[in-house]
Amino acid sequence: MGDVVKLQGVGVSPGIIIGPAHLVARCMPDAPHYCITPDHRQEEEERLLAALEESRLQLINIQQELTKNKNNPELLYILDAHRLILEDTMLRDGTVNYVRKGYNAEWAVVRYLSEIIAVFQQMDDAYLREKRADIEQVGKRLLNNLLGHSEESVAGFPEPVVLVAEEFTPSDTLQMKHETVLGFVAQRGGRTSHTAILAKSLDIPAVVGVPRATGKITQGDMLVVDGLTGLIHVNPNTQTLAQLKDKQQRYILFQQRLMDSTIQPAVTTDGRKILLKANIEIYSDAFKARRLGADGIGLYRTEHLYMNRSILPDEEELCRTFKQVITTMKDLPVTIRTMDLSGEKKSKLFYRDSEHAGINPAMGMQGIRFCLREERQVFLSQLRALLRIGSEGDVRILLPMISGVTELEEVLQLLGEAKESLIKDGLNFNPNVPVGVMVEVPAAALCAKELANKVDFLSIGTNDLIQFTLAVDRQDESVAYLYESGHPAVLRLIAMAMAGGVAGGVPVSVCGEMAGDPRFAALFMGMGIDELSMTSGCLPLIRRITRTIDFTQYQEMASSVLEGHSTAEVMGLLDDMLRSSCGDEYIFH
Ligand code: PEP
Ligand code: MG
Repeated sequence: MGDVVKLQGVGVSPGIIIGPAHLVARCMPDAPHYCITPDHRQEEEERLLAALEESRLQLINIQQELTKNKNNPELLYILDAHRLILEDTMLRDGTVNYVRKGYNAEWAVVRYLSEIIAVFQQMDDAYLREKRADIEQVGKRLLNNLLGHSEESVAGFPEPVVLVAEEFTPSDTLQMKHETVLGFVAQRGGRTSHTAILAKSLDIPAVVGVPRATGKITQGDMLVVDGLTGLIHVNPNTQTLAQLKDKQQRYILFQQRLMDSTIQPAVTTDGRKILLKANIEIYSDAFKARRLGADGIGLYRTEHLYMNRSILPDEEELCRTFKQVITTMKDLPVTIRTMDLSGEKKSKLFYRDSEHAGINPAMGMQGIRFCLREERQVFLSQLRALLRIGSEGDVRILLPMISGVTELEEVLQLLGEAKESLIKDGLNFNPNVPVGVMVEVPAAALCAKELANKVDFLSIGTNDLIQFTLAVDRQDESVAYLYESGHPAVLRLIAMAMAGGVAGGVPVSVCGEMAGDPRFAALFMGMGIDELSMTSGCLPLIRRITRTIDFTQYQEMASSVLEGHSTAEVMGLLDDMLRSSCGDEYIFH
């Protein structure tokens, strides 16, 4: 066993896990390089073609396995994308060409892939990076098959392990199985990266952004990972391990108590009702939201419907998927956000070339801008589906990334066009589906009243609001230390958005990750926000916290927090505030 080390990363999905490290290689296997004499080239070509076919069949098998477990359509799309790359004649012809020139099959694959990857590397675009990763994964599978290596997957292991890698993709996260993957540690990634949000939604404890994790952790090291604080103990001594196991037991008991307690209403001690809703990523998340007593879906991110697939979902498919969520949630409200493709959440369907790369993707042609400027028809079909499904339940439409009134007016006009076209087509729809704006750009917080005057509700998206207020890219771990939820500027903008909503006469909720953090959830309640939407797993705890809060007392505390001069001061005040009402249980948060 190696040295005792403590590593600090960003805790993104809570849970204390103890187990051996399993390092997952993310690099290509070593490929032998040799020349094939002309009389053996035909044979080598057949070996290459056989490996291509074997890789394709493996993917089909995995897909068939997954189809039995109907909860994972997103993973099917990813595997579909890999299969399409394998079936692409370019890959076959490109590699066969090299074999015909005398390269051995493995060398031909490495050579051809490195050419393609070099092209992608020159393009600074998140979608193309994603595409490059797909090609690398396909290449790895192909090489493993040529070399007779069994494929390294993250799906299952003989014993429970803690996975460690430079980076895990959202598709890796979807494949992890609870029985054998205790959780994961990644060198890259940030709190609000897609992989992190997915880990939380699937209850997989995770710590990301751990500098040099793969260098400092070796295979088989005993790890204790705290997915809340981000602290990782590598090979702790017997005494520390005993203490950590004790903490783990208390955490498990605490979680059990939270889960076992019958779902009680989220009401403060002085009788103020707080609506606690769920954020969902994929439609099957709605089951968990329902089980954990969500008061509805406060944010349904629809990007997954457009990601990792080769054809666009048509209006009927959108209606069917939305209907599943509505049916699962019974009569509860479901807020569906229009597609917000951005940064890492780009879709292969649209960004076909480098024209969309932009200089700074986080501030470029993305979100609502992309819908209005680049893919108006696709956006129109989503709006039509939302209006149609609005006649089947309590549906609300949420617009992301709105930066001002003019942009909002343009969307509202398009919504009007969607209604006219539905009338023309004689289709049933609800013309009065409530429409809301996400406040996630500082400009929207500053103009909240003007925006509120034109819509039915506001929902504060803190993940992006922090990014844009502090000029800190939420994907970039090198500046993750500056991504401070408790920064006074962020809190003041949230207060402004809240005041703007009140002045405009519409309800204001919060749906960013801050809503599921007990300290900020309590602060928001003190600020008068009575609707929070969070990852389902956070609901039991926030409900419990709500039931310890005295609203009148928290109102006063919230005003002093908003006057805090620095993040440190704010966090200190929030800690004191929560400790005063939650007592000892607070140690887990
Ligand atoms: C946000 O920005 O706070 C938000 C909820 O949206 P997303 O995380 O999907 O960007
Ligand atoms: Mg956002």
